[in-house]
Amino acid sequence: MTTSPAPTAHGTSPTGRPRVVVVGSGFGGLFAAKALRKAPVDVTVIGKTGHHLFQPLLYQVATGILSEGEIAPATREVLRHQQNARVVLGEVVDIDVDARTVTSTVLGRTTVHPYDELIVAAGAGQSYFGNDRFAEFAPGMKSIDDALELRGRIFGAFELAELATDPAEIDRLMTFVVVGAGPTGVEMAGQIAELAHRTLRRDFRNIDPERARIILLDGAPQVLPPFGPKLGDKARRHLNEMGIEVQLSTLVTDLDAEGLTVKDSDGQQRRISAATKVWAAGVQASPLGRLLGDATGAEVDRAGRITVQPDLTLPGHPEIHVVGDMANHPDKYPGVAQVAIQGGRYAADQIQRKLAGKDPKGPFRYRDKGNMATISRFSAVADIKKLKFEGFIAWVLWLVVHLFYIIGFKSRVTTVLHWMVSFLGRGRSQRVATQQQVYGRLALEKLGAGFAASKTGGPKDHPQAPDSVNPDQQHDLVGRRTA
Ligand SMILES: Cc1cc2nc3c(=O)[nH]c(=O)nc-3n(C[C@H](O)[C@H](O)[C@H](O)COP(=O)(O)OP(=O)(O)OC[C@H]3O[C@@H](n4cnc5c(N)ncnc54)[C@H](O)[C@@H]3O)c2cc1C
Repeated sequence: MTTSPAPTAHGTSPTGRPRVVVVGSGFGGLFAAKALRKAPVDVTVIGKTGHHLFQPLLYQVATGILSEGEIAPATREVLRHQQNARVVLGEVVDIDVDARTVTSTVLGRTTVHPYDELIVAAGAGQSYFGNDRFAEFAPGMKSIDDALELRGRIFGAFELAELATDPAEIDRLMTFVVVGAGPTGVEMAGQIAELAHRTLRRDFRNIDPERARIILLDGAPQVLPPFGPKLGDKARRHLNEMGIEVQLSTLVTDLDAEGLTVKDSDGQQRRISAATKVWAAGVQASPLGRLLGDATGAEVDRAGRITVQPDLTLPGHPEIHVVGDMANHPDKYPGVAQVAIQGGRYAADQIQRKLAGKDPKGPFRYRDKGNMATISRFSAVADIKKLKFEGFIAWVLWLVVHLFYIIGFKSRVTTVLHWMVSFLGRGRSQRVATQQQVYGRLALEKLGAGFAASKTGGPKDHPQAPDSVNPDQQHDLVGRRTA
């Protein structure tokens, strides 16, 4: 079914107020929309999902510490008191910069949204560096779907190891490889280690979860590159003490259900037999970056990020603002939440100044509030304005900052309770994993048009939808059981 409301005359809306369309309900989009709460405009937030996702804590959903609801409040609920804002579920598939319209679609229903000002904050998805087939065996860490699928795979691997009799098969099932030693990879590897060594220690009869092999590998020669060599080295030593094998200067050349083939710095290839692989290496900006680049002539880099002007607008289009992970600013800001939040607020402020007839602000300047990453319970690294912390103090700082940014009082309370269960005790409150979570992605891909799981956070090719999943295809689903 298709509905396409005729665009109203440029510059007007049913309320007579300027229309601001915000693409994305992540950090950039949500904070931009909230910053417009007192502005005399009509705000439409279009999101591919109905929730705002706090990505920094996804690894805790994947490892059973937090529930998905705690890190993903409904966007509609967050904005319920903001009378000038409405929320629309849909994937933006087209932006017509001449007609000033945005087209979104959900389950075959297409909607056209006219705008006077546009804020695009569609973020970035996982990049497999041209090897998208890896995604089937090594889910990324970009969405709630990814985190729940990984949860099912991680807990499921221990279950299957408990049943296996062949020692080589048990070893394969109890080997976990995290690709990418940035903050996400380090946090993920640390939590799988704590899960195996603390939480599951006494839960099995045939296997000893403490013998699980956890490997963190990266093509770079250092862990946590954004934190500098000193903190990176400390983090690596701590990971080693936790029993995690850190393999640096190591590139993944192939990956399948059975394991990975990697190439070391001396050019030697070797095989790692591992059932569970996590991909935490590399990002690719939303395809909307390329779409806008083609439409406006703005440059798009290899990661798909569109080059914005110093004020976050596109050349020749002062009404289009691009913020967050999909923007390549002349000052080369990193892809972190604060860049997106501050960019969203800046764009909202520019729009309000324009409407009030005031001069625009100077160029966007990111105020760096620092970087943090946890390694294990009670241990983190933090790099804040040239001050470098590690250990317990950094961990407490991490706790406070993350709690501050979790949205909603209820979520904060339950998050603290779940952290107490996991950090003071040895439990995990969220160990449920359903078959749908583990095999759902493949089933969705078989459904075709509009259903395929997105790897890059934006519009994708929409193949013809088959009427149903055929029996041959079901074989693939079962075959994936041990992947
Ligand atoms: C696992 C992980 C851990 C991280 N940890 C940290 C951390 O500790 N500290 C830190 O500062 N940063 C961290 N980051 C980075 C941080 O989350 C991002 O920099 C930030 O989310 C970028 O905000 P954004 O608004 O640009 O994009 P996002 O927050 O990704 O939001 C993009 C939004 O756009 C929507 N969208 C995408 N395509 C479309 C479309 N075509 N149509 C409609 N909607 C669309 C998405 O559904 C989403 O709502 C982490 C990221 C990940 C993945």
